[in-house]
Amino acid sequence: MPRHGDTPTLAGPTLTLLDHPIGIQELEVLRRDQLTPRMVRLVLGGDLARWEARAPDEHVKLVFPDPETGMTRAPVADGDHLHWPKPFPPTREYTVRRFDRERGEVWMDFVVHPGGLASDWAESVQPGDRLWVAGPRAGYVAPPAFAYRVVLADHTALPAAARIVEELPHGVRARVALLVPDAAEEQDLVVREGVEVTWLHEDDPEVSDRGFEPFLAGLDLPADEPWTLWAGGEAGLLKPVRRWAKEHGLVNGSTADISGYWKRGRSNAVTPRRRLAHRVKHALRIDDDA
Ligand SMILES: Cc1cc2nc3c(=O)[nH]c(=O)nc-3n(C[C@H](O)[C@H](O)[C@H](O)COP(=O)(O)OP(=O)(O)OC[C@H]3O[C@@H](n4cnc5c(N)ncnc54)[C@H](O)[C@@H]3O)c2cc1C
Repeated sequence: MPRHGDTPTLAGPTLTLLDHPIGIQELEVLRRDQLTPRMVRLVLGGDLARWEARAPDEHVKLVFPDPETGMTRAPVADGDHLHWPKPFPPTREYTVRRFDRERGEVWMDFVVHPGGLASDWAESVQPGDRLWVAGPRAGYVAPPAFAYRVVLADHTALPAAARIVEELPHGVRARVALLVPDAAEEQDLVVREGVEVTWLHEDDPEVSDRGFEPFLAGLDLPADEPWTLWAGGEAGLLKPVRRWAKEHGLVNGSTADISGYWKRGRSNAVTPRRRLAHRVKHALRIDDDA
């Protein structure tokens, strides 16, 4: 989701920004399942009394130990906020694929790839291992008045897109494109009537060249109903999507929710410079790419 949206000025429905207290808790890995060759599901448990499922793309910050000391410097909760230690500890963001209060479980699905702190952790973690988790943080929610949805996700945004698809309000129609490395990465999703899912594969030359563009060009958009776009994935992959949204009159943070989840060739580690840039962008109400 955009970290901060443009002020809605349009007639018709707009996305609702959910703001709420953020917590910090140490959770335990209960199970680890290899979902597909490149996707690992971790099921976490612990004290989840404060947790609530608020938005399908809600996410958490995982706080990892400092590589030099092996110690984790978790933030401290202060009312509705968290005080983060300085320097900022190693963190990465992941989607809450499912929160099951009755079972006391939180599911997270990790894309595994070479050379990533979070990815390496997800590949080696064992039941009984523990992890500090800040969040969950919600963001924008589309009201049912958006009768038609376009949902675009790459592999990292598949957990969010899967929840969006599963939690669509009754009667809402959707066209969903899920871009994964190859056919082995497809997952079974619960899909209602009126929802069409198209799997795109990076090993298809047209997809690797043009990403979501051919899919978007083939959409039959409604002329007389409010519609919205949700898109998550690699920052470069989303550039043409941002252009397309603008050309179709959508405003990010108001009638569209487009978020860069990662950038090819760049770690998502929070550096002091990046934290400062994020704060400046926040003050100026400019979207972060990833
Ligand atoms: C709100 C939000 C929700 C997210 N939810 C999820 C989720 O549910 N599941 C998920 O898997 N990811 C999710 N991501 C993306 C994830 O946080 C990034 O992929 C992150 O960079 C992974 O951290 P890392 O430590 O493994 O790699 P980093 O240390 O950040 O990066 C190391 C290198 O790996 C590359 N890299 C990073 N991710 C990938 C990838 N997926 N494939 C190939 N190369 C990569 C980087 O470009 C860099 O060169 C989410 C991101 C955001 C912002």
